[in-house]
Amino acid sequence: MEFLCQHVVVLGSGCAGLTAAIYSARSGYETVVVEGSLPGGQLTRAPSVENYPGFPTGISGYELISLMRKQAERFGVTFIGDEAKGAHVGEYRKIIRCENIELHCLELIVATGSSPMKLSVPGEDRYEGGGGVSSCATCDGPFYKGKVVAVVGGGNSAAAEALYLSNFCKKVYLIHRRDRMRATETTANKVLARKNIEPLWDSCVESIYGDDSRMSGLTLKNVNSGELSTLRCDGVFVSIGHRPNSDFARGFLEVDKYGYFIGAENDPAFTSVPGVFIAGDCADHTYRQAIVAAGSGARAALAMERSKNS
Ligand code: NAP
Repeated sequence: MEFLCQHVVVLGSGCAGLTAAIYSARSGYETVVVEGSLPGGQLTRAPSVENYPGFPTGISGYELISLMRKQAERFGVTFIGDEAKGAHVGEYRKIIRCENIELHCLELIVATGSSPMKLSVPGEDRYEGGGGVSSCATCDGPFYKGKVVAVVGGGNSAAAEALYLSNFCKKVYLIHRRDRMRATETTANKVLARKNIEPLWDSCVESIYGDDSRMSGLTLKNVNSGELSTLRCDGVFVSIGHRPNSDFARGFLEVDKYGYFIGAENDPAFTSVPGVFIAGDCADHTYRQAIVAAGSGARAALAMERSKNS
């Protein structure tokens, strides 16, 4: 296994990690970013980001992240295509064990983000990755041009996925376990006004069925009556929220009951371990916005600098 020593290691390459890396490297610290399992993070999957300041006509998540990465590279940040699996964290030296490399550093910024939650129903694993089950409309949606698809969930992500898919799919069913959307009113209204999106309220997915290689429909259950029905569709996009990527740090960083890192009361960028800072969605179950994640990345890097100078 290869070893690398660096002043600052940032875990995660989404908005929070990249912003932290830009601030850290620009301040003169040798900075390495460990990209994680999804380089660029969840934002790379957003078809269009309309509320990130500075882009008046919107920008795709992939493009926004690519620009941030370019900016980090300009300040000399090194990127490592690996994922943290565990760590040994002392007051002065931190050792991060990745799949192929071991990193030693003095300061660690954890910005590992979150991962899509699964339905955990029969058929989901079987048809995932090419068989019709997806958690990313931007990545897989174009395979469903002119077809019938379903989106599961009622939040802003599900709404955005449904709107995006409705631009080129014949029909989009929105399956939600409640009788109204959780998404903001403006977004929900857009969904409800779209002619080829049909909400199926009070419904949850019981199973995903199909042949050996592809799904062909869903078994749904009405949560009030318990009645089962089938819905034929070519693909399903699961958009029911995320869980924080914090498993690798359990044991040395404090997490809440959902697994989100807990920051210090007086400054959420600090943790109980000197030299370890947190940023982004892995420590935020409330806002989870690109701009908030970017802000918290800047804050973590500034907190790191301040703690060194104090
Ligand atoms: P979310 O707001 O937590 O919504 C998750 C949805 O999935 C909820 O409607 C929930 O139902 C449903 N759900 C959860 N577990 C389920 C299960 N096992 N089976 C069926 N349905 C289930 O998550 P999100 O939509 O991913 O959004 C995350 C955060 O990002 C939010 O703060 C959101 O505002 C933000 N976001 C913002 C934008 C934007 O453009 N501004 C875009 C995307 C996301 P219930 O409603 O019954 O709980």
